Amino acid sequence: MPAALLIGAVVLCACLVGIYTRPVDFLATVWPANAIMLGMLLRFPATAKPFGWVMAALGFLAADLLTGSALFKTLILTAANLVGVGGAYFLLRRYSRDTIRLKTPESIPLMVAAIGFGAFLAGLVGAVANPVLFGGSSLGGWSFWFVTEFANYVAILPVMLTARWVSLPKSASRMDMLRLTLPALALVASCAVSVQIGGPGAIAFPVPALLWSAIVYPRFLTVLLTSIFSFWSLLALSAGYFPNVVDVTTESGLISMRLGVSLIALAPMMLASAMAKQKRLIGELSHLATHDTLSGVFNRGAFQEEAATAIRSLNCFSQPFAALMIDIDHFKAINDRYGHAAGDQVIAIAAARINTCLRRNDIVGRVGGEEFAVLLSKCRRSEALEVAERIRSVFAQTMTLNDDTISLTVTLSVGLAATEGASVDLDTLLEKADGALYRAKDLGRNRIEVHQAHRDEDAA
Ligand code: GH3
Ligand code: MG
Ligand code: MG
Repeated sequence: MPAALLIGAVVLCACLVGIYTRPVDFLATVWPANAIMLGMLLRFPATAKPFGWVMAALGFLAADLLTGSALFKTLILTAANLVGVGGAYFLLRRYSRDTIRLKTPESIPLMVAAIGFGAFLAGLVGAVANPVLFGGSSLGGWSFWFVTEFANYVAILPVMLTARWVSLPKSASRMDMLRLTLPALALVASCAVSVQIGGPGAIAFPVPALLWSAIVYPRFLTVLLTSIFSFWSLLALSAGYFPNVVDVTTESGLISMRLGVSLIALAPMMLASAMAKQKRLIGELSHLATHDTLSGVFNRGAFQEEAATAIRSLNCFSQPFAALMIDIDHFKAINDRYGHAAGDQVIAIAAARINTCLRRNDIVGRVGGEEFAVLLSKCRRSEALEVAERIRSVFAQTMTLNDDTISLTVTLSVGLAATEGASVDLDTLLEKADGALYRAKDLGRNRIEVHQAHRDEDAA
């Protein structure tokens, strides 16, 4: 019910915006209501109920009647709007979520098919309406209606489908800021130059800047800039700001200009949606390359890289840190007794239990078959010892494997090496922790041993 009222109210407001920007006795250049309604139906499925459609229809009717349109004209225009939205929605609701959010290279062609279908249906109503309401031809009515609907969908719908909160990268350097500002500046500059120079090519001047934006910006920003470009071009062309571009006082001139602007707008959106898929694939690949699939923690190489980077910065600020080397006790016996698959489950459980004892910026990696290494940042030896003890005792709790058919208790041993602010590299620290781990094994397992030098210091 509130969703239905909301879509009705939004449609009413959007219609009023369209009506007040409508040139006298001509269909609106900017008619946002249909695309906004379609976007709401897709983004907020609660509005896509029969009552939502009824309220939206009332919104269309009320806007026209309130602004003095005749009832007959209002009914025809509302029919065209609803038929168009209905046709596009009929196809769009069948698409996957990623397609709707413009996250795949097929998104734009599929979206064009859907809004093209909606615009085609609205055009059919236009073919009837044009002779009756405006004394024109059916073909003229169809093409004008089709193109205007299409142009508005292209300018508005993608913004609604991709809208999300965009924040600046946290540690943006000056170069990053420049990189982020330049495409937008280039877009503004090329739009300004296109108005200055004019002529038949002017409308294409902003294309490189739009494509640049698609490469640099997140999808939503690209779509937003493209939408602003579309509106600006449509309005500037209608208002005759471009010298010698097209004669917008003729219907064919208007149709050509609206279609041209829409097709230009599709190019950066297509690039942005293809980039979205590529970025996701690169993210997945880089996760696979840096993480161990069995345990989900960093693999050996990535652990070394991450830990070395962290240590460089910790050394820089003379901050304390510690390393733990962790090895599961008698793991071979688990494999031998319960099978390799059960052993794999123990490794995964170990990683999960170790993780529960760590803070967000601690780094953990699987550095051998049943061996893990941990770097504890900004952590004194005594605190590291507490963490190690927590890991030991949490892991020693009973675990169940093979869908609860096996219940067993496994232990682990830990070697610990710490620095109290002295500069140490990763390899040296891990070597010391490994030495301590060996001693923990020698002294009977299920225990924590601290690097020998620390013990000597403590004794002194
Ligand atoms: P200790 O207490 O001295 O550490 O004895 P251990 O049996 O744990 O040590 P050892 O190094 O002899 O055995 C490690 C075993 O881990 C040998 C190897 O077959 C097994 N292993 C290595 N990688 C994997 C793995 O990915 N999955 C499984 N299930 N086993 C693995
Ligand atoms: Mg072991
Ligand atoms: Mg081992």
